[in-house]
Amino acid sequence: MAVSVEGLASAVKGRVVEAGSTEYDEARALYNAMIDKRPAAIAYCVDEADVAAALRYGVEHDLRIAVRGGGHNGGGLGSVDDGLVIDLSPINAIEVDAQAKMARVGGGALLKDLLDATHEHGLTVPVGIIGTTGVGGLTLGGGVGHLTRELGLTIDNLVAATVVLADGSVVQTDAEREPDLFWALRGGGGNFGVVTSFSFRCHPVTTVLAGPVMYDIGDAAEVLAWYRDFLPAAPDELGGFFLFASVPPGPPFPEELHLRKVCGIAWTQAGEEESDALREARAFGKPLLDGVAPVPLPAWNTAFDALYPAGDQWYWRGEFIREIPDEAIAVHAEYGPQMPTWKSTMHLYASDGAAGRVGNDETAWSYRDARWTGVFAGVDPDPANAGAIRDWARAYSDAIKPHAMGGGYVNFHMDEPDRVRGMYGSNYDRLARVKAQYDPNNVFRVNQNIQPAA
Ligand SMILES: Cc1cc2nc3c(=O)[nH]c(=O)nc-3n(C[C@H](O)[C@H](O)[C@H](O)COP(=O)(O)OP(=O)(O)OC[C@H]3O[C@@H](n4cnc5c(N)ncnc54)[C@H](O)[C@@H]3O)c2cc1C
Repeated sequence: MAVSVEGLASAVKGRVVEAGSTEYDEARALYNAMIDKRPAAIAYCVDEADVAAALRYGVEHDLRIAVRGGGHNGGGLGSVDDGLVIDLSPINAIEVDAQAKMARVGGGALLKDLLDATHEHGLTVPVGIIGTTGVGGLTLGGGVGHLTRELGLTIDNLVAATVVLADGSVVQTDAEREPDLFWALRGGGGNFGVVTSFSFRCHPVTTVLAGPVMYDIGDAAEVLAWYRDFLPAAPDELGGFFLFASVPPGPPFPEELHLRKVCGIAWTQAGEEESDALREARAFGKPLLDGVAPVPLPAWNTAFDALYPAGDQWYWRGEFIREIPDEAIAVHAEYGPQMPTWKSTMHLYASDGAAGRVGNDETAWSYRDARWTGVFAGVDPDPANAGAIRDWARAYSDAIKPHAMGGGYVNFHMDEPDRVRGMYGSNYDRLARVKAQYDPNNVFRVNQNIQPAA
């Protein structure tokens, strides 16, 4: 029987889309088409009062509540079967104070909006590599990307937030106000409340020297061994993630390389003047292609958007990695070339440098000693290939596990409930106590869920 949401539409100011309406299928769609959830209703909240009203309605009617930022979560944690989706997309305003080098960002904004708005002022905030991802989910999980080594994780640049709590009250939090909540928000996912506004410190980066250097996939072991030794010793200013991928079948890539499986490194360095480290990196080996060029940061930071539009099938796994021993290199060299579809990929995001100099207990992200945040992503538009992409990502990540740190990045998981504790690592118990303080009834449980401490 359909769950009743009578009275919801009059409780909130924003649009409410109910199951069965003509707009329903479009409104419930998530980025990952492998996830097919059917909520009772989607409430497009326009401000904090709206979020509070929707929350109260959901709690009073005993509905499971999901909070949707950009809807990019691999496991579809921005939605819930038969429950209420609080959609934050109308809360997407961005105000940049260029003098103070601060950006105040609505909880439903997308990375590309933040990148464009700050770029206009010659500034940026370090975020993830795809522009259509939500600032909300990305930040609450941590946020790794091109500039992590130089500027830290996204959470390392968060200075304040406005949060609607489970009881509908609104709090401001920062290092001084509700400090436990502020600590927990920086890596604890959506467990503690609905963040309607994030305030970030900005940095003067406009142009980057960036692009992929791609090698024959048969050179993978040699390239990865060199990268493993080179990058941790390189200055923070140089970022670069190792990848397996297939060359996209279109410009600007040369036709003879289209769809060829390759390994490579996607390099990023702020500014236009090539550093010695980047010059040395580009001189390594025999690349098939060197695409490094000066480019406005928002262009580089959205360069993969067209390749990965909403509506593909995705299957994800994640691992934190400290060392890449030769045995792990052999695993990569075996599984990387087996990518089952041309969109499937494996990335090792560098998360050392500035991010690695923060203590494991200073924020809720408890893997500061990881040098890499690895993601194994099977991707394809065709649902018929769902099994193949899942099997490959699982087998590859399982084979790497003996060489990984145990936990995995909260934002790179979908269907591994037994790994949730490990995702928060040594911070889990403190997070559970903060959860008990701010959400004792676990209203926010459609996430990588932390159980409130008894
Ligand atoms: C193509 C692609 C590329 C990616 N690249 C990167 C990358 O480079 N770096 C990286 O770190 N991650 C990356 N990710 C992972 C990404 O960070 C997570 O998928 C993240 O959960 C997406 O956030 P969202 O707001 O879009 O998702 P949603 O599905 O909307 O939400 C995800 C979770 O966050 C919660 N949430 C979202 N917004 C709020 C809010 N304002 N208040 C409270 N809770 C909230 C939701 O309740 C849910 O539990 C990528 C994902 C995809 C699909």
